[in-house]
Amino acid sequence: MALKITYDCIACAACVEDCPNQAISEGPGIYVIDTQRCTECVGFHDSSQCVAICPVDACVPDPDHPETREVLLAKKETLER
Ligand code: SF4
Repeated sequence: MALKITYDCIACAACVEDCPNQAISEGPGIYVIDTQRCTECVGFHDSSQCVAICPVDACVPDPDHPETREVLLAKKETLER
């Protein structure tokens, strides 16, 4: 499933550069993840880079966007075109 950023976000922007899909951008007050671009880093890394780098653990799975690994891989291929 795509990830989302909670209101614990301190808007440090640490995650932006590490996202391989350019899925993270500045939103109103906090940063936001584009669910159409987030692949949980599947196809790039073994774990979600934003989760690893976030200093306040604000990047979490978004239960409103459940996706299998296969779906995430297919999404990655679409984004790379
Ligand atoms: Fe980007 Fe990976 Fe975080 Fe998704 S999990 S927003 S692809 S860094």
